[in-house]
Amino acid sequence: MNFRVGFGYDSHRLAEGRPLILGGVTIPYHLGCDGHSDADVLLHTICDALLGAAALGDIGLHFPDTDAAWKGADSKMLLAHVMALLHDRGWKVGNVDCTVVLEQPKLKPHAQAMRVAIAALLAVPLDAVSVKASTNERMGFVGREEGVCAYAVALIERA
Ligand code: MG
Repeated sequence: MNFRVGFGYDSHRLAEGRPLILGGVTIPYHLGCDGHSDADVLLHTICDALLGAAALGDIGLHFPDTDAAWKGADSKMLLAHVMALLHDRGWKVGNVDCTVVLEQPKLKPHAQAMRVAIAALLAVPLDAVSVKASTNERMGFVGREEGVCAYAVALIERA
């Protein structure tokens, strides 16, 4: 089998006094994602999609939130570690498609910067990275701005 597909999902609470970091890009806003690492929900989702494609478990297995080593960790480092795991097993990334779900702020002005950052981390061309954004129409925890969630699918192929 030369191709595999993987799916990722993650969510984080929004909190005052935290930076909002999505796809490796810091976005000006009065709320940010709370978590053990820098809580980049989009990069975490991509990590899980890639790990899933290679059947290597999930992000909690590789980076437990009980491990002080990952406290405040830059999620770009987590994704780099996932990429190393894939590389060791002879996989490279084909493409990723992601959706971030949050009410505010608007992500459209930042989507290109996220794509550039993610493409560099995944060692793929820009057109292999899609970052989409949606609100949740004011419904549920996303609608109440209690949190942000993100979904991703990733295709990997034999290097
Ligand atoms: Mg997470």
